[in-house]
Amino acid sequence: MKNIVCILLAAASAHAAWKTGAAAVNITPKESIWMAGYAARTKPSEGVLQDIWAKALAIEDESGARSVVVTLDLVGIRKRMADDLAETVKSRHGIPRERLWFNASHTHSAPLVGDSDTYDLGTYSEAQAPVLNRYRAFVAESILAAISKSLGKLEASTLHFEQGLAGFAVNRRRVGHREYPGPVDHDVPVLAAKNTQGVVTAVLFGYACHNTVLSDYVINGDYAGFAQEAIEQRFPGAVALFVQGGGADANPLPRRSVDLAKRYGVTLADAVTDVVKGKMKPVAGPLKAAFEFAEIQFAGPVSKQEWERRAAGNSAQEKRHAARMLGIIEREGKLRETYPYPVQAWRFGSGPMIVTLGGELVVDYSLKIKGKFGWDTTWVAGYSNDVFAYIPSVRVLREGGYEGGGAMLFGSLPGPFAEDVEQRIGAAVDRVAGAVR
Ligand SMILES: [Zn+2]
Repeated sequence: MKNIVCILLAAASAHAAWKTGAAAVNITPKESIWMAGYAARTKPSEGVLQDIWAKALAIEDESGARSVVVTLDLVGIRKRMADDLAETVKSRHGIPRERLWFNASHTHSAPLVGDSDTYDLGTYSEAQAPVLNRYRAFVAESILAAISKSLGKLEASTLHFEQGLAGFAVNRRRVGHREYPGPVDHDVPVLAAKNTQGVVTAVLFGYACHNTVLSDYVINGDYAGFAQEAIEQRFPGAVALFVQGGGADANPLPRRSVDLAKRYGVTLADAVTDVVKGKMKPVAGPLKAAFEFAEIQFAGPVSKQEWERRAAGNSAQEKRHAARMLGIIEREGKLRETYPYPVQAWRFGSGPMIVTLGGELVVDYSLKIKGKFGWDTTWVAGYSNDVFAYIPSVRVLREGGYEGGGAMLFGSLPGPFAEDVEQRIGAAVDRVAGAVR
């Protein structure tokens, strides 16, 4: 009898102490705008297939500590915007940096939002500069509005965690390199919030795969947009929030039709629905959080003479990149040797831990971190807090190719990363995980 009482008390404490609130703000552009993700685009957007959203899920634990995850149907969010927003959120709502997490779905069918130094991707016309600046300000306001609304809706809730599986992500580095090992992460982690009546009010779910089914000039959230839409139809009143994982080297294949984007969206929504309707584990508090910027370094230094040689080389992309590097040397005296890389961990009681990492994270990180801290309880998100470059593992760095360093040619970083990039990030993950465990 005594045992039963203890179990009941434990169950009650696992359940009753949370408050959650979720909100969505429409960030569909109101004018024709340059889109992010593909350098080959030659004109701004033409119409809207599906609305895109900034969404927020606020979580208050039994100690009153508030945390907010913001998910975005955008290719990324840059450090400057994330830092500015974090400062505002801290002064308005008292939420510290470690309790704020931004994640972008990496849809390639949304407007370009970046710092001026990320506008290199593609050659948007001058007429687009004010349009892009207006949209950037609109997105920042919309994110703050979503956060305020989610906090305003905080209500007594229970939280539940479990994972499903979905199989459409393919390791894209094997396209053309069949000899590569081609790891994938097919896990579908789900955190569901229910109100005191047991009604699902928010579904935070993840998948590790580029949102690149579509590549035309029409605004939409790609497969993740269709997945969120389907989940919200199945759980009326709930907000569905998509989190991009270590999907940098994964593509949905085959691709390039609206039918396929919808099909993968429904496949993912089916996996999430099975999890939510099945037996999920109740999640207990408190919610602990830790955040740091880890220094990761580039392989350089490369001499000015070497950049001059590359600027006179044969590859158009390499020439443009070298010219940008020389421009930075001219203006600032030298190039960046390191980059402040955001690493964050959230842990729910003695249960699930979410590790969030910046940049376009390759799947090796996700598999390695889950293997270390527990396959059933660890959720690894890339594309968080600053999406600025591909983050290769040592294996991918050595193999080379686009994710190994080639993509750096499209940006303003000297790249590639040094071979200790994986070790430096791993050490930072150990530190934030240690702080919440
Ligand atoms: Zn990408």
